Amino acid sequence: MNKYILASSNNNKVLEIQSKLPNLNLISLSQLGYHQEIIESGLTLEENALIKSKIIFEKYHLPTISDDTGLEVKCLNGAPGVLSARYAGKHGDAEANINKLLKKLKGARNRDAQFRTVICLKTNLQELFFEGFVAGRIATDYIGKRGFGYDPIFIPHGYNKTFAEMSLKEKNTISHRSMAVEKLAIFLKK
Ligand code: IMP
Repeated sequence: MNKYILASSNNNKVLEIQSKLPNLNLISLSQLGYHQEIIESGLTLEENALIKSKIIFEKYHLPTISDDTGLEVKCLNGAPGVLSARYAGKHGDAEANINKLLKKLKGARNRDAQFRTVICLKTNLQELFFEGFVAGRIATDYIGKRGFGYDPIFIPHGYNKTFAEMSLKEKNTISHRSMAVEKLAIFLKK
């Protein structure tokens, strides 16, 4: 079976991506015993995904898949975007990030936003990118308890509920990450 590295230690992400790519032997960073922090210093999602893929490819010489996701809010010119994980300062403080965003959007009429995921596949021959996105709007307060990150304030277009009110299965049928993984899966099947 073809071996690929998924440059992530996030088990939920690994499981989600593996379920869509059943024919790949996907090896995570934890399985490799790689615990170093990779500094995501890129200015775009594409750059960050490439940084991760390159570092891991150069160490292990196996095709490497990595991803980066951001929430892009229209009236904030695409912010928090590439800074989504650390919008309020501390990496991964979802509550602080949401509070900052809700404050910025106080009174805003146009609350349009999208989640965008970029996947980078790096092999010895090429660097390829696959993009997925889901359009929606930012709620005025937290709704729902499921999911993670900005899920409690993101209402996808065509729905009257946030991602945090959906089951994982329902979210995955429309999510940015699923779309990007699907595009990668189609490419790898060819
Ligand atoms: P990552 O690139 O997957 O680590 O995502 C960066 C940041 O974007 C995360 O820390 C979350 O704040 C946010 N994010 C990514 N995907 C989602 C999602 O599916 N729902 C809510 N927030 C997300």
